[in-house]
Amino acid sequence: MTQTIQVAVPGPFAEPLDYLAPTNEPLPQPGMRVQVPLGRRQLVGMVVETQAQTHIESHRLKSIITTLDSEPLIDADLLALIIWSAHYYHHPIGEALISALPARLRQGHAATPSAETLWQLSAHAQASDLDALRRRAPRQAMLLEHLMQSQTLTAAQLAGLGGDARAALQKLVAKGFATTQQQHHYGLMAGRASEPAFALNDAQHTSAAAIQPGHGHAILLIDGVTGSGKTEVYLDAITRAIQQGVQTLVIVPEIGLTPQLLSRFQRRLAAQIAVLHSGLSDSERLNAWLAARAGKADVLIGTRSAIFVPLARPGLIIVDEEHDASLKQQDGFRYSARDLAILRAHRLEVPIALGSATPSLETLANARSQRYQHHQLSERAGQAQAPLMRLLDMRGQPTHEGLSAPLIERVQSHLDADGQVLLFLNRRGFSPTLICHECGWLAECQRCDARMTYHRGKRRLHCHHCDREQPIPRDCPSCGSVDLRPLGLGTERIEQALQSRFADTPLVRIDRDSTRQRGSFERQMQAAQRGEAKLLLGTQMLAKGHHLPTVTLVGVIDADQGLFGADFRAPERLAQLIIQVAGRAGRAERPGEVAIQTHHPEHPLLQMLIHGGYPAFAQAALAEREAAGLPPARAMALIRAEATDAAAPRRFLQAAQALAPETPAVERLGPYPAPMERRAGRYRAQIMLQSDQRAALQTLLKQWLPRIHSLRESRRVRWSVDVDPTETL
Ligand code: ADP
Ligand code: ZN
Ligand code: ZN
Repeated sequence: MTQTIQVAVPGPFAEPLDYLAPTNEPLPQPGMRVQVPLGRRQLVGMVVETQAQTHIESHRLKSIITTLDSEPLIDADLLALIIWSAHYYHHPIGEALISALPARLRQGHAATPSAETLWQLSAHAQASDLDALRRRAPRQAMLLEHLMQSQTLTAAQLAGLGGDARAALQKLVAKGFATTQQQHHYGLMAGRASEPAFALNDAQHTSAAAIQPGHGHAILLIDGVTGSGKTEVYLDAITRAIQQGVQTLVIVPEIGLTPQLLSRFQRRLAAQIAVLHSGLSDSERLNAWLAARAGKADVLIGTRSAIFVPLARPGLIIVDEEHDASLKQQDGFRYSARDLAILRAHRLEVPIALGSATPSLETLANARSQRYQHHQLSERAGQAQAPLMRLLDMRGQPTHEGLSAPLIERVQSHLDADGQVLLFLNRRGFSPTLICHECGWLAECQRCDARMTYHRGKRRLHCHHCDREQPIPRDCPSCGSVDLRPLGLGTERIEQALQSRFADTPLVRIDRDSTRQRGSFERQMQAAQRGEAKLLLGTQMLAKGHHLPTVTLVGVIDADQGLFGADFRAPERLAQLIIQVAGRAGRAERPGEVAIQTHHPEHPLLQMLIHGGYPAFAQAALAEREAAGLPPARAMALIRAEATDAAAPRRFLQAAQALAPETPAVERLGPYPAPMERRAGRYRAQIMLQSDQRAALQTLLKQWLPRIHSLRESRRVRWSVDVDPTETL
């Protein structure tokens, strides 16, 4: 038996691989990156264990080529958490560990923040040198004079001097009159605490006081209606964390990390703030990661992947909008950042606050069983009042492009009273499809079991499932008729209808299409917030999380699309969206109104929402899940397979079923075709696993997955496991 070093290497390996220690180098430690050979390639891996025994003879093992770090990048605790997650989500360990690192570190770059060159006056420089230079090299003289006055010059100052300043400065360095130095900077944002905190109301005070940074583990659900002041509760807790010298990690959904939120944090906190999201460059991401790890950042605000960032002095974790779907990764390493945040807080023995106006049923179930403290903020902070909600019955009503007469009347009356109106439709494009009025042909995607959306602005058909685009046909491919008509409603169509009905009213449309240009989302949101635009129209981009103080009326154009979705979570998502969008109304002094258009006004879900709000809906929905044996009542996992060959996924999953260890504790369903069987040219099928016992489900997967890997059929399909799936489609 030989002592070896276990290295997690990217690739399809469930467990780390064994290597020999590098020759002529100190032994690498767990959490350090190493360069290792794999086949003919060299890869960056991470050391997981150095004391392991192996049964492989040492002459068959390869050596680590070199160690890339002089100290562990990831401490033992975080390393253990990521390894635990790789096992729990059944993802290859090296992929999990490496994907937890910023791209620069994955590629093997040094773990150092960005550096900037700083020029300094050399001790050798004399006034007489300046005189000499003045005659022969006036440009250099000018720079030397600059240095003599200010001692240093930064790259930014140099750029301000223009021309060939840099070249001239380099000549000064060559002559010994100036020296250069690299200065590290982490790209942190300084909070100035220029604004005082509000005096918290009673409900805010109670929940804030229950969050005690650095004083042991506790899980708190901050269940507060929109505008109830949840963010103020976070800010209060973060302020105390900063005073105690501990760091706060704030996880937000993709759409939630807005410039508004950042500037609010900066105005309220005396702290160094780092941000981490997908819109940053690789070096900016590395900087933020290193700043958190080095303890330079007091607060790290980040999307999903920030849950894997090392923290030098952790004291508090906050997950805002904990119900948001973007907290679960939907491909590759399918982790839930919320669930891992809870685990991480537990391991670190720090408190965690989960905030939402519409908590997920999972979280509510945990609050009910008293695993989480449940703090309710049921009233809006300040003077704002809860909006009045009502349903507009669309049955038999004349409509103008999807807008019913009662809705148009409400819009007009709010505009007349100088209010601002927000209309919500969660479907972009002009219409969800085109139809031939002669023969009924529909514009379908050739690669998906789905229709193509008609986009009038860019004059194309676009499949929102596979991104395929094509020009709009001039005539019907089936019968040749030129009478092709848009069928159904999208935001572009509503925009057109509003423009014709409310011709002189300034309008902004906010959806993925209207905000493609960099900065256009911020520009349009500002126009919305300042009240310049009186009519706001948009998808969930507009509905989520933004403070729109002057909106007085929210119109939900079509509540019906979510009522009959294929996914068991569709009603939950619909209820969350309606409540979130309704929460935009009347956030300030003016009371708000919410009007929901539906053809199913008697639907129990809508009735419950209108009369009892989200808590009533959630209670009923939980009872329904319980009765149906669906999460959170039972644990769930999906095995998905897809292939261009229509029969291959099913064949593979059948072969897999035949190898499944029998256990009565786990129910296995399928294989069955995915609700949208063909997507992007691939056929899809799945097996659903459910159990009352999470552990039994885990044990089964652990025994079963290696057998599935060894199947010949597994090489003919793409397949994956999704533990605790948030989408079953
Ligand atoms: P949430 O995060 O729950 O949507 P916010 O924290 O953004 O709520 O607060 C909503 C609004 O109410 C903000 O304009 C905020 O400044 C204000 N607010 C919050 N708490 C108080 C308070 N205790 N007193 C007065 N105004 C408050
Ligand atoms: Zn498609
Ligand atoms: Zn036709």
